[in-house]
Amino acid sequence: MDNSDNCCICFDPLLGVENKKLPCNHIMHYFCFSQYTEYCEKHKKNVTCPLCNLELQITIENPRSNRACCYLCCSLIFVLFIIAGIAVSAYFISKTTF
Ligand SMILES: [Zn+2]
Ligand SMILES: [Zn+2]
Repeated sequence: MDNSDNCCICFDPLLGVENKKLPCNHIMHYFCFSQYTEYCEKHKKNVTCPLCNLELQITIENPRSNRACCYLCCSLIFVLFIIAGIAVSAYFISKTTF
């Protein structure tokens, strides 16, 4: 058995699964690699090859976090609008009753 046929993250065989080949020719499961890049991103680390530490100039595609940020901003603006609306209506109510 050739060692290069195994994933260098989980050491399982690469056969039959989608693989990721790095510029340093190290191969790993695509799934393992994406988990690894997610880990690096979470810990604010540079993404390097887990085997030879070659720095990988990859931009991590993470549409989920972008959307989450956008969602957070939108809900924040929404809450501000509600608060502003309550304040304005409270102001008008106090003006009409007194
Ligand atoms: Zn793997
Ligand atoms: Zn490598």
